[in-house]
Amino acid sequence: MSDQEIEKRLAEKELLDALNGIRTIEGFPPLSELPEPPFCSFCGRAKNEVGALVEGHNAYICAQCAAEARRLLLRETGR
Ligand SMILES: [Zn+2]
Repeated sequence: MSDQEIEKRLAEKELLDALNGIRTIEGFPPLSELPEPPFCSFCGRAKNEVGALVEGHNAYICAQCAAEARRLLLRETGR
């Protein structure tokens, strides 16, 4: 396995761990592997689970995570 491949696998493992951390908090069962893209970069749910995804630079977000992010940002900024 090349260094590049090892790095890619490690990045995927990190993303999977991060997704599963959030999924546990949100009450979704953990994933054993990354879903087929596109999937929400925050909760790991696939497009067919969430209906629509907003695409950003190298990331996607579902409506539920966008709403949660908005709520947290509003609390943070107080606006
Ligand atoms: Zn999401």
